[in-house]
Amino acid sequence: MRILLVEDDDALRADLERELEAAGFAVDATASGIDAQHLGAEEPYDAAILDLGLPDRPGLEILRDWRAQENGLPVIILTARDAWYERVDGLEAGADDYVGKPFHTEELIARLNALIRRRHGVPQPQIQVAGYTLDEARQVLRGEDQVIELTGTEFKLLRYMAMHPGEVLSKTQLTEHVYEYDADKDSNVIEVYINRLRHKLGRDLIRTRRGQGYVFQPVD
Ligand code: CA
Repeated sequence: MRILLVEDDDALRADLERELEAAGFAVDATASGIDAQHLGAEEPYDAAILDLGLPDRPGLEILRDWRAQENGLPVIILTARDAWYERVDGLEAGADDYVGKPFHTEELIARLNALIRRRHGVPQPQIQVAGYTLDEARQVLRGEDQVIELTGTEFKLLRYMAMHPGEVLSKTQLTEHVYEYDADKDSNVIEVYINRLRHKLGRDLIRTRRGQGYVFQPVD
């Protein structure tokens, strides 16, 4: 899952970027509302975290602009803790959720995961894959009496694919949701990670559609 993080407080942005990356998200972070508006319109993010108080372009204007363009990007706004009217304005402008400052990053990440699951119609609090539960906090797969370790990229890839069962996913699409904007994106590397996941979870989990991409087939 790839996230757009918009926050002009440098220390907070750096902390959040680090913690979100540690939680298995690819993160594009910016302090600029103007850049954020452009990025959110052009890049295929899975969600955005948007501070409302930005110096160059208010967060509310960015949000209203995205929605006016029929951009359904899931958005969590960051508001002042005591400013209930900011939350109302934000929700009315099209925000999906909010977190009041100061907050614990755990809450923001829990809300982010819940929002992404909801957006993909996943009713369970945890994603099930081939008889295992995907533990998003520890980035492992848990079975009855077995834990399968995953590398950071394997986790990101598996989580994205598990949210899109039965869909044909191109290498480009997978690359765009697993790597950051400035990452060295070689879509052929995805093939290597797909094969590692097959090795860990069985060949049938991910089918190849020649010339098109991959289809994630949940095993029941
Ligand atoms: Ca701010």
